[in-house]
Amino acid sequence: MTSATNTSTGPAAAAAVRVRFAPSPTGMFHVGGARSALFNWAVAKQQGGTFVLRIEDTDASRNQPEWVDGIMSAMAALGITKDDPAFEGPYFQSENAGIQKEAAQRLFAEGKAYYCDCTRDVVLARTGNQQTGYDGFCRDRGLEYAEGRALRFRTPDEGETQVVDLIRGNPTFPNRNLEDFVIARGNGSPVFLLANVVDDIDESITLVMRAEEHLPNTPKQQLLWEALGQTPPQWAHMPVIVNEKRQKLSKRRDKVALEDYLAEGILPDAMVNYLMLLGWAPGNDEEILPFDELVRRFRVEDINSSSAFFDIKKLTAFNGEYIRALSVPEFTEACGPWLHAPRAPWSEEQFDQKVFDAVAPLAHSRVALLSEITDNVDFLFLDEPQIDEDSWNKAFKGAAAELLADVRATLAATGTGEVAWEAEPLKDTVTAVGEAHGMKLGKAQAPVRVAVTGRRIGLPLFESLEVLGRERTLTRLDAALARLAEGAARTDAEVPAGAQ
Ligand code: GLU
Repeated sequence: MTSATNTSTGPAAAAAVRVRFAPSPTGMFHVGGARSALFNWAVAKQQGGTFVLRIEDTDASRNQPEWVDGIMSAMAALGITKDDPAFEGPYFQSENAGIQKEAAQRLFAEGKAYYCDCTRDVVLARTGNQQTGYDGFCRDRGLEYAEGRALRFRTPDEGETQVVDLIRGNPTFPNRNLEDFVIARGNGSPVFLLANVVDDIDESITLVMRAEEHLPNTPKQQLLWEALGQTPPQWAHMPVIVNEKRQKLSKRRDKVALEDYLAEGILPDAMVNYLMLLGWAPGNDEEILPFDELVRRFRVEDINSSSAFFDIKKLTAFNGEYIRALSVPEFTEACGPWLHAPRAPWSEEQFDQKVFDAVAPLAHSRVALLSEITDNVDFLFLDEPQIDEDSWNKAFKGAAAELLADVRATLAATGTGEVAWEAEPLKDTVTAVGEAHGMKLGKAQAPVRVAVTGRRIGLPLFESLEVLGRERTLTRLDAALARLAEGAARTDAEVPAGAQ
C-alpha cells in the first residue's frame, strides 16, 4: 500500500475504520461478492472511514486483466466508485509479494515458523488419518530453506484463540486443533493465509468483514497478526447466501453473476437495496429505502448469522417497485438498451420513438424487469406480430374464429367518419360484438389480442390498438382470419374418408 500512506496521517484518521473488499478475480462478479462490497462500503460511508479495494490476484493462472475491469465496472454499477473520497485502491496482492516474503522470513528468523520437507503421503503414513492434519514432525529438525521445503507456522499447543467477531459473538478456537499450517510453498511463494494478513496489515485494515467460509481461517490469521507484532483487527463473517433449496449459491447451479441480473433489467438501485437486506434488516419492517438511509441505519452487529435466502421473486418484486418509482421519461431512458440493437428484436428503421412514448406509461405500470419491455411492445415495431403458438391455441378454441370475423367487420367501420379510432370506442365495439356471441369482454378480447400482438398477455388492449392504428390492426385481423381459414381447410382435409 506504499502509495496510500498519505491518507492515514494524524490521530483522527488513525481512529477511522478501514475496511476492505478483497475479491479474487474469477471472470464474473458474484452477487455474494456484491453483498460483501456493499456491507463494507456502508460501514466506510457511515463512519467516515475508508473502503479499500484489493484484488487478490496471486493465482496467476486464473487472472486476466479484463476481469479486474469487470470488477471495477460492476462495483461502479453499485455506486462504489473510485471518485468517492472513501474509496482507496485498487491494490493488487501480487504487488505485495516482496513484503509477504519478508514477513515469512521474519517469522522463520524469529523461530515462529520452520521448514518442512514432508510430503502429504509421508504425513499420512505417520498419522494414518486424513483428518489429523500435520503432526509437527519437522518442528525441531532445524531445516534451512531448500527448494521444495514448505514454511510452516508454529501454532501454540495449548490455550485457545479468541477472535472478536461482530456478528458471531467472539468464537474461541482451541489451539490444539490448529495444525502447524503452511505459510509459504516449496517455491517460496506465500499462501493465501499469509498474503491476506500481510496485505491487511499493510493497508491498516481495522475491520475484516468477509464471507462466512473464511471463519475457520480466522484463528490462524489472528495468530499471524500477533506473531507479526500487530494488534488483530475486528472480524465480521457474513452469513452464507443460499438458493430456494437452502443450498449455498453456486455458479454451476444458480444464477450468481451480478452482470446477468443487470442485463435482464434489474435496476442497479433495486439490486443494491435487495443485496443490503441479505442478512440484515433496517428495522420497522421497512425494506425499500434509499441507499443513504440504509447506510444510516446499518449496524454490523445486527447482521444475522444464519444463512440468507437469495429470493429472486422478491428481488423482481423490489425491481417492480423501483421501476414504478421512476418517472415515465426516466423509465423510457432505462429501457433504452432494450429498444435498440443488439437487444431489440426490431431494426432501427422499424423502431419509432414516438410510438414507444405513447405506450411507455402503460408499460411503466406493469413490467417488473426492464427486459420484459421488448415482448410488451414488439407488436408495434415488427411488421408482423410474433405469434406465440400456445397463446394462439388457447385463444382460438370454440367460436373465437367467428367472433374475430365479426370484430373485423365491425372495426372496419371504426376510425372512419363519426367514430374515432380511439381506445374507448374500440372497447365498446369489441364489448358489443362479444355480447352478441354471448362472451364477456375478458373472453372476447383474447382472440383479438393474440391476432394483433401475438400473445395473450400484454399492454391494455384498446390503448394498444389505438397506437397501432386502424390499417395495421385490420391487416393483422385479416392475417389471423386467413390463418384460421387455412387451419380449418387443413383439418377438413385430414379427416379420413368416410368419417364425415
Ligand atoms: N479473496 C478472498 C475471496 O475472494 C477474500 C478473502 C478475505 O476477504 O479475507 O474469498
